[in-house]
Amino acid sequence: MADYQAPLRDMRFVLNEVFDAPALWASLPKIAENVDPDTADAILEEAGKITSGVLAPLNREADEQGCKWNEGEVSTPEGFKEAYQTIVEGGWNGLGGNPDFGGMGMPKTLVAQFEEMMQGANMAFGLAPMLTAGACLALDAHGSQELKEKYLPNMYSGVWSGAMDLTEPHAGTDLGIIRTKAEPNDDGSFNVTGTKIFITWGEHDMAENIIHLVLAKLPDAPKGPKGISLFLVPKFMVNDDGFLGERNQFSCGSIEKKMGIKASATCVMNFDGAKGWLVGEENKGLAAMFTMMNYERLGVGIQGIGAAEASLQSARGYANERIQSRAPTGAQQPEKAADPILVHPDVRRMLLTMKSYVEGGRAFSTYVAQWLDISKYSDNDEQRKHAEGMVALLTPVAKAFLTDRGLDTTIIGQQVFGGHGFIREWGQEQLVRDCRITQIYEGTNGIQAMDLMGRKVVASQGKLYELFVQDVASFIEENTGDAALKPYLEPLAASLERLSDVTEHVIKQAGDNPNAIGAAAVDYLDMFGYTALAYMWAKTVKAAAPKAEGDTSGFYTGKLKTARFYFDRLLPKTVSLAEGIRSGSDAMMALAANEI
Ligand SMILES: Cc1cc2nc3c(=O)[nH]c(=O)nc-3n(C[C@H](O)[C@H](O)[C@H](O)COP(=O)(O)OP(=O)(O)OC[C@H]3O[C@@H](n4cnc5c(N)ncnc54)[C@H](O)[C@@H]3O)c2cc1C
Repeated sequence: MADYQAPLRDMRFVLNEVFDAPALWASLPKIAENVDPDTADAILEEAGKITSGVLAPLNREADEQGCKWNEGEVSTPEGFKEAYQTIVEGGWNGLGGNPDFGGMGMPKTLVAQFEEMMQGANMAFGLAPMLTAGACLALDAHGSQELKEKYLPNMYSGVWSGAMDLTEPHAGTDLGIIRTKAEPNDDGSFNVTGTKIFITWGEHDMAENIIHLVLAKLPDAPKGPKGISLFLVPKFMVNDDGFLGERNQFSCGSIEKKMGIKASATCVMNFDGAKGWLVGEENKGLAAMFTMMNYERLGVGIQGIGAAEASLQSARGYANERIQSRAPTGAQQPEKAADPILVHPDVRRMLLTMKSYVEGGRAFSTYVAQWLDISKYSDNDEQRKHAEGMVALLTPVAKAFLTDRGLDTTIIGQQVFGGHGFIREWGQEQLVRDCRITQIYEGTNGIQAMDLMGRKVVASQGKLYELFVQDVASFIEENTGDAALKPYLEPLAASLERLSDVTEHVIKQAGDNPNAIGAAAVDYLDMFGYTALAYMWAKTVKAAAPKAEGDTSGFYTGKLKTARFYFDRLLPKTVSLAEGIRSGSDAMMALAANEI
């Protein structure tokens, strides 16, 4: 198994050469004061050392050991406490956090690269800083000044970690039916009672305190999603002097045995009149959660790329070393008993598919992060509004498409290893198991597709979709004279037109047929994702082509050749997806329950 190495060269290429992120940062005054290219580069370098040198070496053994539950306490695998301490000492938890409360205020475009390294190196561990950063975002956006001052500095530092408590045994996708209750006390606090399940890092031994953000219902709350409020519930009470007080009234009832991310604790949390404080307004808890969801959902998409990158690194090394059979064109290494499997077209198909998804996906996550940065930090109202629209539209695509392709990539990586991919020793089967959850949590990928098609595309009658079309169309227009880009612009334009036709078709169908959106959604998101990746590969060609001549490293020439593979072999999937979508919902809905 190849040791995970943070893909710094590629991250720098995406940030500096494809997107010119430093120019974006300089144009956003609130970011410009926190980051310059040298600082960003130093952060990438240090992140690479920690993720490759500290987190990755723990990944395999921690998967074997898992977390252990004992009388409500959860102990983590060997080395996790020390690794967590390294994260705390480097201030990594607060990398993107609000500087007013001790965060480092770095742009998401940069933070996204760190997240990818952490998830690629050790996804189970990486969930702890990820959940803490998510909880901080919600608290920073919606908490009172008092709550922020009391909790954020220790959460940004990582001395305290965060957990998000939404799911209940009977309520996952449909949070409107949760039963956890919050009863008001005279002192402004609330008593929270109920059971939450599947709470990632809800209990553990790495941090001094764990701050839970819990969704619950007030006694007089309206029914459904409009009656949910958000509460901050600390494991240990925090005294006014900042020191920790008594243990709060809740505990971890058990942890799940599960398919992957075994080294992360997935907890049943029992709240028994636990003291909590309202975050944001009463009955507006779901809206508060959605603030951080755009970040979290992109973060989960990035988990898909992280796992896929780790798989690609191993598969690439293996394909160069493993010798089996001769190349169809004749022996390539006659001195050996057989040629490396890399000579076989099908192995190349596998590796190039992986490389297309990983590098195209990294560009796409950075593209979405760029819109998040503009939406958060621009001081121009119009620009901010435009960016918010892009974020709303692209977030479900980033979450679902990147995790779907992430799993595809890890499975292909496993296949490159043949039977050895099925054996634990090589690490590929762990990547498949770990990556699988990314399609399920933070809103299943089916729900992401419904969000894209229903809430974003159809509900806005295509207006949000048009923002994306305009962006791609202006790129095509600006570059029509570019000879290197010529072979890519035509299929990109054709793919965009195909997507636009299908978009219009489904918007029309949705008017008469309530099942139209659900029937089209997953294929539509896929089609959107493949088109978006084509756009990313075209941007990649634009950045790489001028440097390809005389490139002996293979970095830039490899980009151009991978782009060609993507356009020739993967983008055509949109044709069959479009056909399927146009067939409508009849075939799906025709069966009675006893016929399925
Ligand atoms: C390892 C792990 C970690 C997790 N971490 C957390 C955490 O930290 N905090 C937290 O709160 N939760 C967490 N979860 C819970 C996770 O977010 C939920 O499992 C997920 O949202 C799906 O909910 P569910 O399991 O109840 O499935 P259900 O909602 O019952 O869905 C079952 C199936 O029906 C589909 N479906 C449901 N409704 C619709 C609809 N309207 N239209 C179309 N299809 C639909 C779904 O897509 C899915 O395929 C975690 C889960 C796991 C397994």
